[in-house]
Amino acid sequence: MIKATNKEDNVFKKFEEHTALMKNILNVNPTVLVGEDAKKYLDERGYRLLNGGFDKNTNTVVVKKAKRLLTLAHEMRHAWQFENSVKYNFEFPEGRQMIYFFRRKEWDANYYAFKYGWNSDMKLNAVIYFLGSVNFLGMWVIVFALLIFKIVI
Ligand SMILES: [Zn+2]
Repeated sequence: MIKATNKEDNVFKKFEEHTALMKNILNVNPTVLVGEDAKKYLDERGYRLLNGGFDKNTNTVVVKKAKRLLTLAHEMRHAWQFENSVKYNFEFPEGRQMIYFFRRKEWDANYYAFKYGWNSDMKLNAVIYFLGSVNFLGMWVIVFALLIFKIVI
């Protein structure tokens, strides 16, 4: 019992550390909610099914599970995109609060999460995250590229 609690504490501690690091790297300072607070935030706004999100209206990043550090990276990148939307031409249309299907923004956030994981010694997680974030065709292009890479090396 105590062991489980410690483990959970460590997950949250790690989450806090990465949050601070990302705020520093990206030079943004959104409110970050995790765990029950995040669940409540998403539920109240009708986004029960999401694992996380960024709400531009309140400048809030929410991540349900503290162990999902790359989801945190993805959503933190959305906070950065919003902050830099004029400079880099990221569109944040009104209407949808949390979900954006605009591709460039999603690719950018996914790529950032991948890079963050890769550089933070979460390489396997990074690859899994990236494969999960691209569409099926994209996935096979990457698998094929990796195979060729392997053969060439
Ligand atoms: Zn996104």
